[in-house]
Amino acid sequence: MITELEFVPVPPADLDRIRCNGHDDFGHRVIPRTSGAGAPLRCCLRLSREGERIALISHRPSSLGGPYAEVGPVFVHAGRCPGFAGSSFPADFLDRQAVLRPYDAAGQMLDGVLAEPGESEGELKRLFDDPAVALVQVRNVIAGCWNFSVRRRAA
Ligand SMILES: [Zn+2]
Repeated sequence: MITELEFVPVPPADLDRIRCNGHDDFGHRVIPRTSGAGAPLRCCLRLSREGERIALISHRPSSLGGPYAEVGPVFVHAGRCPGFAGSSFPADFLDRQAVLRPYDAAGQMLDGVLAEPGESEGELKRLFDDPAVALVQVRNVIAGCWNFSVRRRAA
């Protein structure tokens, strides 16, 4: 059976609320800045282009809860943006080294994987071969920051 995967950014409704409030859900003010190229944007799941207006906010990416549900810093567009509507692995993240962290349905972290550039997609499919895996977080290697989550697409 082929498992269809869904790639999950910061939810657009959360971003609407945060941009409207002027602060994130943890009380940090949204401070727009002009981006250089290459900041990973967790709203649209692509790298920023030179001159785009972005902001750094705190986000708790896990919908599973539990002690592993960390809060961390993420770059997003400062203003309303198209978001991510893709159904395949976000192209800008394919050739980056990444840590893939699988979690079970209770939010407990299972064995993680270090994926070399170009390997994340294949490693993800392999992780989801395990029926215990409910969600995988794709994270940066050095800082550990969350990039996006991946789950099985509901049939
Ligand atoms: Zn965006």
